[in-house]
Amino acid sequence: MSEQDRIRVAIIGAGIVGLTFAVALNAFDKEHKFAIDLYEAAPELSEIGAGINIWPRTWRILEQIGMKDILIPLLDHYPDLKRRVVFEIRKSDQRDGFRITDIVKEGGALRIHRADFQRSLIERLPLPGSGASINSTCNLHLSHRLIDYTETSVPSSPGSSHSCPITLHFADRPSVSCDILLAADGIKSTVRPLFLNRLPDPQRYERYMEPVWSGSTAYRGLVEQAELMRAFPVHRILKLPGIMYVGKSKHVVVYPVSGGKYINVVAVVHEVFKEGTEWTGPSSVQVDQAEFLSCFEGWEEELRALIYCIKQPTKWPINNLDHLDIFAKQRVLLMGDAVHAMVPHQGAGAGTGIEDAYILAALFAHPSSPRSFSASWIKQLGDIYNLVRVPHAIAMSKASIKQGYLDTLHAPGFEKYKEGDDVPRDLLDDLFSVVKRNWDWTATDPEKDRRIATGYLEKPITPML
Ligand SMILES: Cc1cc2nc3c(=O)[nH]c(=O)nc-3n(C[C@H](O)[C@H](O)[C@H](O)COP(=O)(O)OP(=O)(O)OC[C@H]3O[C@@H](n4cnc5c(N)ncnc54)[C@H](O)[C@@H]3O)c2cc1C
Repeated sequence: MSEQDRIRVAIIGAGIVGLTFAVALNAFDKEHKFAIDLYEAAPELSEIGAGINIWPRTWRILEQIGMKDILIPLLDHYPDLKRRVVFEIRKSDQRDGFRITDIVKEGGALRIHRADFQRSLIERLPLPGSGASINSTCNLHLSHRLIDYTETSVPSSPGSSHSCPITLHFADRPSVSCDILLAADGIKSTVRPLFLNRLPDPQRYERYMEPVWSGSTAYRGLVEQAELMRAFPVHRILKLPGIMYVGKSKHVVVYPVSGGKYINVVAVVHEVFKEGTEWTGPSSVQVDQAEFLSCFEGWEEELRALIYCIKQPTKWPINNLDHLDIFAKQRVLLMGDAVHAMVPHQGAGAGTGIEDAYILAALFAHPSSPRSFSASWIKQLGDIYNLVRVPHAIAMSKASIKQGYLDTLHAPGFEKYKEGDDVPRDLLDDLFSVVKRNWDWTATDPEKDRRIATGYLEKPITPML
């Protein structure tokens, strides 16, 4: 197909989700009918943060889109479905901390450094001159910050030629046009408020325009394994795939990345009464080790030893986007954190966005899809996407919020216990059996959702709006 006859898909944001969509569409585009333009505000691609959990469910998607070989050497273990420990859970807000239980799951959790993951996705982009096989054409435009878009209506006859009905406006760059706009521009999305303000009843969407503070703050940092071995040679994390240190109103997630060279530490301080209030500090700031340590005064020594090894910890507010019930309308579709940014306590935000990208790419490139996307066809894709993805993302977000409470011992029966208190063993056992069940989805099959979504291409559905 000649370049000008291809369907022009613009992706805003080259984070994990935008990149995954480009890789997935290229993998599925057997008829070579899409031209992808990936617009990224930053002058270069870099991932903030250190480690990320990839669950078996997400891994199946990455396999399907051709990422298996490139990712395997970067993972902490071979991706199979053996039952593996994900975390040892420890009651740690006391000097004599102890093991409560292990979270054991089929396939465990694959751990990878974010920068390695992002680099691998970039390597698989079908860019000109890249080693990747090219079905869809693709161009990456760095330093392109979208500030607005305009839509013109086009005839909805199936045979209508491309008229690029969306115009994208960038800061200090010429405007360009496209057939479909996909927003993957993250929690502070520019597209989301523009999209919501164009819905029939924009006032209804007021509270979804901006994310709100969850009341939690995260201290993050990387520990060099070699340094920990010097400082604390018998540290448990040198032998375990992951530990979660829990106590009242706080929990700390710890796991190795980069083949064990580093240990990723994310410590959450959960001030439940501040949920929904305004965060007044910066969105990320470097803090003194002393501040980090003072938050975990009186906690078991092996946790404090990790904090001592973090030279430059950072502090972040953990924000949440309220549960939006529409992800697509007409030619504008939103994916990932742009539309369902969630608190990180299930380690599922990126995975949920990767699923959005996978399902959308499968719909776009389905064999029954026409060679040009009429308004009625793209409307049908958007209706299916809303129907399949909205409930899933809301369920994941709710489970993440719930887990944030459970991991910090905010649960029925725990009201009277303060940080550092002894808590009856049976209460802790019951609580963490709920936490285990909360993670029951991790090895389920995303193919089922893909089949349901593509199945709707054959039968009409009732649109949400
Ligand atoms: C502490 C913590 C731990 C987490 N752990 C996990 C985990 O273990 N597993 C998991 O699945 N998820 C995890 N998550 C969630 C995960 O990090 C996010 O869900 C994921 O990174 C979102 O990816 P995204 O591509 O949607 O957005 P982003 O990564 O935010 O990417 C958005 C991109 O869009 C660009 N952009 C923004 N505005 C514009 C614009 N106007 N024009 C052009 N470009 C623009 C940005 O520069 C950026 O590159 C965690 C989150 C946190 C905070």
